[in-house]
Amino acid sequence: MWKQVRILILLLVLLVVAVNAYRDQNQDWSRPVVVLLHPVNADGHANTQRYIQQLSLDQLQDAQQYLSAAAAEYRGQPVHFYFQLGREIQQLPPKVPENASMLDVMLWSLKFRYYAWKHSESADGSPSVRLYLNYYDPQYVHVLKHSTALEKGRIGSVNLFASVKQSDQNKTVLVHELLHAFGASDKYDLSNGQPTYPIGYAEPEKQPLYPQRYAEIMAGHIPLSENTSTMAENLAQTRLNLATAMEIGWKK
Ligand SMILES: [Zn+2]
Repeated sequence: MWKQVRILILLLVLLVVAVNAYRDQNQDWSRPVVVLLHPVNADGHANTQRYIQQLSLDQLQDAQQYLSAAAAEYRGQPVHFYFQLGREIQQLPPKVPENASMLDVMLWSLKFRYYAWKHSESADGSPSVRLYLNYYDPQYVHVLKHSTALEKGRIGSVNLFASVKQSDQNKTVLVHELLHAFGASDKYDLSNGQPTYPIGYAEPEKQPLYPQRYAEIMAGHIPLSENTSTMAENLAQTRLNLATAMEIGWKK
């Protein structure tokens, strides 16, 4: 009798894990996509706090439009993206390990999922994705650490500058990380930042190939020659290519 109960419990646990894995992997694009954004004052500076206080959804409208338009192009019908500004969170997401072993990455991913669970409230509803926006004052921090997002769990830790001047660049990073959360992969060479040909090119069939006009959103840089590229300054300088559209399920 007890043995059967134990087996039943085990099967139930497996079922829950399987259902969660299935739900995580398949975004239903016919439904509205709710992206909940939680600002975090990552450096504790007063300027950063002032920046967080003036944040509004209006500033993100072009990012929503960018995504809806790209979705319409590949799917033949738009996807409705709704960004929501959630409450500020006092605790930083767990630090992404650098040069880490597989075990470190797994542990970090568990910690991050625990963090997201701990800081969620039932009033949040059930957003499609949660992004934690870690703001740093550019006066003190000149180079941001790498942002990252987990497809399993649909959460991302995004490092941004607390500066109106950087808002275009912030939006490019935010959209890039959001697409990671839906399963898109990076499309540049990790050793030098150069976009990978052809999957990291917005127009891989362009003649002549260089200079490219746009950066692929998951590559982030506009290729100028085989070995040189320049960073996209805003979303208008980027495109979402077919490879990315296929990874996130916009195109079969
Ligand atoms: Zn990336």
